[in-house]
Amino acid sequence: MIVDERMSAFIDSLDKGNTLFLNEIEKYAIETQVPIIRKSMQSLLKFLLAYAKPKNILEVGTAIGFSALLMSEYAPADCHITTIEKYEKRIPIARENFKRAGKEDSITLLEGDATEILQQLEGSYDMIFMDAAKGQYIHFLSDILRLLSPGGLLISDNVLQDGDIIESRFAVTRRNRTIHARMREYLYELKHHPQLETVILPVGDGVTLSTKLM
Ligand code: SAH
Ligand code: MG
Repeated sequence: MIVDERMSAFIDSLDKGNTLFLNEIEKYAIETQVPIIRKSMQSLLKFLLAYAKPKNILEVGTAIGFSALLMSEYAPADCHITTIEKYEKRIPIARENFKRAGKEDSITLLEGDATEILQQLEGSYDMIFMDAAKGQYIHFLSDILRLLSPGGLLISDNVLQDGDIIESRFAVTRRNRTIHARMREYLYELKHHPQLETVILPVGDGVTLSTKLM
């Protein structure tokens, strides 16, 4: 945990909470160890949705649909969400959740590896939520930049690797070293890319907000 536990418990305690349906999916995700966005990220997303009022959202990493449903709940009514997931076990659960929420028309689930899907995807998205395998963000970046509209917002989750990001690569377990290197490269790119203005926030597991310059 990168944020003091008591501090995040205090902040979370002020939250109004979500709909019963979202609470149910969140509970199921926690019980079955599906890694969904935490309270602090939920709160940040709700704020950004209210502020930016996106009409076309792209999400990389659906899992069982919790964040897509949360975004759909708090985005403008005519907002469309496209979300990508490759894990066969999670796809039918996500579909079922979208159906139960009556969101089949406003959420499109693309099945497969984002590495390929992003390359083929066209169109323009005013908000992109990156929440897939951390080690792949850097490889997705050029397609993400192509798909993000000018003035659009890119939100990337879990960028501080549970705090490991500040450690030397030798202090990180071998298993996490590749992710460590790639995530540092991703953060550097986001901060130095001429088309982006980025802020790195120690919220939840670390979040970046990047806007594509006009
Ligand atoms: N956004 C979800 C949680 C996503 S967890 C929520 O908060 O509710 C990350 C998901 O990304 C996992 O289900 C994993 O299977 C998926 N994923 C990881 N790499 C991927 C890739 N290359 N293509 C598609 N999905 C990917
Ligand atoms: Mg995440």
